[in-house]
Amino acid sequence: MEINPKKCPICGQDNQCGNELRESTCWCSTEAFPQEIFDLIPEEKLRKACICKDCLEKFAKQISIQ
Ligand SMILES: [Zn+2]
Repeated sequence: MEINPKKCPICGQDNQCGNELRESTCWCSTEAFPQEIFDLIPEEKLRKACICKDCLEKFAKQISIQ
């Protein structure tokens, strides 16, 4: 299976990763990712494709409610 580093491994949308866009810093390098969010990602996609901002925000909301 091919892994597209520009697609979010959770929802499959464009993840807007700055590393891929060749910007100096990606938004994801300044955000905190809860450890639990990585449990949602299939192992083969882990560290290969960034999570998109939408999924991070959704997930952060979910765990703050609990
Ligand atoms: Zn996503």
